[in-house]
Amino acid sequence: MTFNRIQFQHGMSIPEFLRSFGTETQCAEALKQARWPQGFGCPRCGGADHYVVGRGARKLFQCNGCRHQTSLTSGSLMEHTKLPLTTWFLAIYLISQAKTGLSALALKRQLGVSYPTAWLLHHKISRAMSQQDSTHRLTGVVQLDDAYLGGERAGGKAGRGSENKVPFVAAVSLNDKGHPMHLKLSLLSGFTSKAIGNWAKANLAPGTLVTSDALACFAAVVNAGCIHVPIVVGELKPRDLPEFKWVNTVLGNLKTTLAGAYHSLKYRKYAAHYLCAFAYRFNRRFDLRDLVARLIVDVARSKPATEAAVRAHAEAPYKLGTAITL
Ligand SMILES: [Zn+2]
Repeated sequence: MTFNRIQFQHGMSIPEFLRSFGTETQCAEALKQARWPQGFGCPRCGGADHYVVGRGARKLFQCNGCRHQTSLTSGSLMEHTKLPLTTWFLAIYLISQAKTGLSALALKRQLGVSYPTAWLLHHKISRAMSQQDSTHRLTGVVQLDDAYLGGERAGGKAGRGSENKVPFVAAVSLNDKGHPMHLKLSLLSGFTSKAIGNWAKANLAPGTLVTSDALACFAAVVNAGCIHVPIVVGELKPRDLPEFKWVNTVLGNLKTTLAGAYHSLKYRKYAAHYLCAFAYRFNRRFDLRDLVARLIVDVARSKPATEAAVRAHAEAPYKLGTAITL
């Protein structure tokens, strides 16, 4: 499928979404399917025999073997939620349909919930996306480039040291025919050998062939067992070289998308979410209709996290001083 055909794919319409996930019962059934596609399995003993206590979204599944009780949301990021499942599902739908996700403020307005509730939903759903994508390591041939978000805000320092400029790497893996397959966009503390080496260990499989420009820090991919092919760009712009075609196409699309949606927002604060949502969507671009269902499954199977952990994660990129995976 070509890039243009992908762009013209239809997502899921609001009426279609509401027909499938408009009631608590429908959402509860979808969660059950997502968590236990093969039928109930006790999280403690693995037993399948169980009976159900209560009804609807709040029902409990009690294991006949060990008497352990589990709910549809326990053991996931939705654990202990007091929100209706329909609110969760609508948030998942809205975030999945926007190319770089939605801001917490937009979510607050569209869902009619308080800002703290929207903030937490937003961060938890983003966390599920990043948990899912971080499990995948790029392999084969990878185009790698450095980039920044923002940096043109009035009042900020100009150039590389600009306060509002957020450094990140973009990496695209290609298949045997040279078509783009998987994308990673990762915030970095800076373009240092240490940061690139750590990033490569977490995101690239050993043996990956990495093409980049001659920026010195990229050589650190060899620390992760990768083969590095630096291309001396010279007078040319990297976008003029076939070696960087896809990574530049992706960065161009990201820039266009962000320019339309977020030009006045603080990149430093929200960068992780934009990049995470963009990459998640790109990596599932062959079936945008299915994106909502995929994200429901990823949220249902996500690992639990306390509000404190979610908050710490939101602020992590600039505290860790190292690469984080989105
Ligand atoms: Zn059990």
